[in-house]
Amino acid sequence: MVVCVKAIDTMFIEILGRVVVIVAILFLTLLVLALFFCFFIFRTKRIIFPNLVLFIISLLYEPLRRLLSFFRVDPVLIDRVSVEIRNAVNYHDFAVTDLEERVLLLPQCIRSTDCPAKLNSLDGIHCTGCGKCEIAELSAICKDLGIRLYISPGGTFTGRILMRSRPKAVVGVACYPNLHEGMLNTKRMGIPAQGVPLTTYGCVNTTVDIEEIINKCKLQTTK
Ligand code: SF4
Repeated sequence: MVVCVKAIDTMFIEILGRVVVIVAILFLTLLVLALFFCFFIFRTKRIIFPNLVLFIISLLYEPLRRLLSFFRVDPVLIDRVSVEIRNAVNYHDFAVTDLEERVLLLPQCIRSTDCPAKLNSLDGIHCTGCGKCEIAELSAICKDLGIRLYISPGGTFTGRILMRSRPKAVVGVACYPNLHEGMLNTKRMGIPAQGVPLTTYGCVNTTVDIEEIINKCKLQTTK
């Protein structure tokens, strides 16, 4: 009886060991595969196996970023590739919507440190168009195009704005890591999004490429 229990124990440990080894090999394989795809897409600007790459990135986001940091490579590469793939994948669903159904979401870090705008608890910061930052120009262009523009003070607020404004499509402006996260959220909400990165990062006085943002806002194709 004792011999039988010992045999079962040994067998259990053996099976457990094999499972651990298989999981570790699978994990490493996925990591290497993800790194290969990310570097390939980053260098060639060609999107290959978009859904597979997005799946691996969302599964191994932190380990991938840590691995890149370990090898002294900027981990933002992962966010950048993720945003570029999502821009490509969402292109058609975004482009068939009408301009009036779209929303442009800007981060508050673009504002001047002297910004006189007030925060509204329901729909974010209300720009007065004082002209001290690029939002004034973007605001005027969006008004002409019929696109609603919102300035969000943070992630929770962004969710609230989207719930209230119920757009059919979104253009988001932020740093790559925030775009990665934001585009994941809009995907969950079923809203096709296009992401545009800031041209300089930071907490205040960041800058944007107005032409790139407006080109994204105006993307259109036949239904
Ligand atoms: S243009 Fe608008 S957002 Fe920019 S500083 Fe002036 S009020 Fe603030």
